[in-house]
Amino acid sequence: MFAYYYPINLHYTDMAFGSIYANWLNLIHSEYQLPWDKAFRKLGLGTPGDHHIHHKLFKYNFGHLFMWWDQLFGTYKSILDYPAVFSDSV
Ligand SMILES: [Zn+2]
Repeated sequence: MFAYYYPINLHYTDMAFGSIYANWLNLIHSEYQLPWDKAFRKLGLGTPGDHHIHHKLFKYNFGHLFMWWDQLFGTYKSILDYPAVFSDSV
């Protein structure tokens, strides 16, 4: 019943969002420092380093995509403050 009313262009939007978000989640779990991390950090977008802090300390960096909420509510910790827990060498 719902599929009958579901516009086809919205379906493509969902597929695009799902693909981008799935790839984003893979990248933040990659445990690599990526070349664009510095720019993403300035824009408030999550990086593998930010997410590493989330998994390491459990009470910081809850945003997977945007760090704005963590910055706003004081739960943001930058990987730059914890250089020993994350390195670019694998
Ligand atoms: Zn995770």
